[in-house]
Amino acid sequence: MPAEESAPDSFDLECSLRAPAMPAHLYIHVPFCRSKCSYCDFYSITGATDDLTEVYRRGVEAELVRWADAALPGLLDSVYVGGGTPSAFAHLPELLDAVMRRFDLHPTAEVTIEANPGTVTPALLKRLARAGVTRVSLGVQTLAAGELALLGRTHTREQVLEACSQVLDAGLDLSVDLMCGIPGQMLNSWISTLEAVIDAGARHVSVYPLSLEEGTPLAVACEGGLVPEPDSDLAASMMLAAEEVLTAAGLPRYEVANYAVPGHESRHNLAYWTGRNYIGIGPSAHSMFDAQTARAVGLLPLHSGGSVARVRIAEPADIDEWLTSGEVETEYLDADQVAREDIMLGLRLTRGVAESQVEAAALTAVLESLAGQGLVELVESHWRTTRRGWLLGNEVFGRVWAGE
Ligand code: SF4
Repeated sequence: MPAEESAPDSFDLECSLRAPAMPAHLYIHVPFCRSKCSYCDFYSITGATDDLTEVYRRGVEAELVRWADAALPGLLDSVYVGGGTPSAFAHLPELLDAVMRRFDLHPTAEVTIEANPGTVTPALLKRLARAGVTRVSLGVQTLAAGELALLGRTHTREQVLEACSQVLDAGLDLSVDLMCGIPGQMLNSWISTLEAVIDAGARHVSVYPLSLEEGTPLAVACEGGLVPEPDSDLAASMMLAAEEVLTAAGLPRYEVANYAVPGHESRHNLAYWTGRNYIGIGPSAHSMFDAQTARAVGLLPLHSGGSVARVRIAEPADIDEWLTSGEVETEYLDADQVAREDIMLGLRLTRGVAESQVEAAALTAVLESLAGQGLVELVESHWRTTRRGWLLGNEVFGRVWAGE
């Protein structure tokens, strides 16, 4: 529920004459989960009442109507319903029906829902496919019972494999999220999880090392010595092993943490990494617009221009605030910041960033310095992150964003 804030007001004729279009990418955050995982610091609510989920559904519909009323030309190219646990949200099919009623989608649009094993059934998946879903992103993390228990995940290996086959039977594309660096996890257990999800038909795999977030039960247990701290060297070995196993199975890396059979890359996430406009609806969701689209939807005064090149909106990470206050955090980026951000995001992708784009952003010296550390390399006129750079991504992306 974006609110207008003051912004630079000098008139930018060129921008104002460019026709704004409907952002081609829509994210909806469903903030409900059946239980809380021990490592999770995402915004999610457990034990929501039927009244709350109904009020939330109406809030999302109101936002869809608001966007539809903006009547910008253009088709949606991707819809992503994330969470939380969308697959456990009773109103999910209606919510997707509402999206389809309010928006025009490209005939080959990618429509993804996040799901947890144990919360999908053949009937639900068929209903979702009828509602336009094309892809399911399954939150697996691991298949080892002890690791699942430590993470507070409530599913079993059998439920994961059953869910994978149900997704495929419904004619949907299957993506799987995995986690390495879990305390007590061994390299052979990790490789066996990777191999099992490949065998189960995953065409897209996201691989993240466990990050201990302050205040979560798992972080508290580690601090108290009840659980061993994650071993970052072992996690790095596991990331390298994932690259080997997934590449050998025909899922090459296309982003720092993402692997896919060619043609099965996440179009929605690629939009984030290539600086496209997107709408985010729901508590804690983010939106991003170029200046002319922001003007067209009232986030910038119509005749403003000057230094604003991109506008980012963060919805409140609290459902009551989201439903009632309409207060959002708005960030304005100038052209230099946009150029740095696009290069930082571009370096997350294996295809890298054109040398000319880096030159135009006056970042060649930074990239050369990173190359001196073996973190990036210049190949065929593109700056690309190296294997070592993937492991030290924060250093690479942080230096580019800082521009020094
Ligand atoms: S299912 Fe996802 S969002 Fe929900 S508690 Fe677990 S990690 Fe957090």
